[in-house]
Amino acid sequence: MECAEPECTRRAVVELHIPWAANKHVCAPHARVLGRQDGVVADPDPDSGSELTGS
Ligand SMILES: [Zn+2]
Repeated sequence: MECAEPECTRRAVVELHIPWAANKHVCAPHARVLGRQDGVVADPDPDSGSELTGS
């Protein structure tokens, strides 16, 4: 699965739980940025956990 952010083609490795919107699957860099917002919870995707440390 690709990152949900526009024009981002990196692999989505984190699921963001966003209180005011639908959950989003995003890449690690976007998860870092978007996960800073109040109330957002970043959940590493169990299906691609190894991707977090790889490459
Ligand atoms: Zn991204």
